[in-house]
Amino acid sequence: MKINYGWITPALAVALFCLSVAASASMIIPANDNAKENSRGPAHSPVIDDQWSLERVDFIHYAKPPQQGGGPKTDVCYKLMGVKWTSLPATYIINPTNPQGLMPAFVTSAVSAGAETWDAATSTELFNNAYSIDSSVQYGVQDYKNAIAFGDYPDGNVIAITSVWFTRKGSKIVEFDMLFNTKYVWGDSAVNPSVMDLENIATHELGHSIGLSDIYSTSCSTVTMYGYSNYGETQKRSLEQADVTGLQKMYGA
Ligand SMILES: [Zn+2]
Repeated sequence: MKINYGWITPALAVALFCLSVAASASMIIPANDNAKENSRGPAHSPVIDDQWSLERVDFIHYAKPPQQGGGPKTDVCYKLMGVKWTSLPATYIINPTNPQGLMPAFVTSAVSAGAETWDAATSTELFNNAYSIDSSVQYGVQDYKNAIAFGDYPDGNVIAITSVWFTRKGSKIVEFDMLFNTKYVWGDSAVNPSVMDLENIATHELGHSIGLSDIYSTSCSTVTMYGYSNYGETQKRSLEQADVTGLQKMYGA
């Protein structure tokens, strides 16, 4: 769900509508309450920096709803945010600190594998292969650092969040931050199906970081940008054709 009503491109407005429908249909927190619940968020206003006219959009990844509502049917299983990077590659910083005993090497391997999956599907180098590791970076701080970290998010139905900051003028993404909710047990679902697969979710969230929105239509449930996940899922590790099509519309084949 996202909470940016201050300034919305036509494409974004469509995405917003779909997100709102999905949220209400699955009993998730209302959009306008989210900023309040997100105590780690830097501000309740969507406008973070008036001087530079930055906007922020939050994508919240929910656990699969208990019953499928049968979302709107569509043949198009990708959705563009209407904003993208123009200065690439993006360098990200991983804070592997977590309360679950995951080794830093596992965390960095899972995240970088997700980044490489997107990189491999376009001629543009999206993510810098030389990422950083820094145990001090946090989710939700607008500092032009693309931070990827774990954290305890209050809503137990929220698996992960990606916040994207972009310029009002030019619609250029300038930063993303990512949070993996430690209310879930993370790991490698290929080894242990009872955990939330870190690479699976990281790949989905990294799709937001480059300008792709969630897809909630159940007819698109196999794509990486499908907006729900659950324990044991690894399907989002690899891209489907729709994910690639959306990616290449922004960054080329
Ligand atoms: Zn998402």
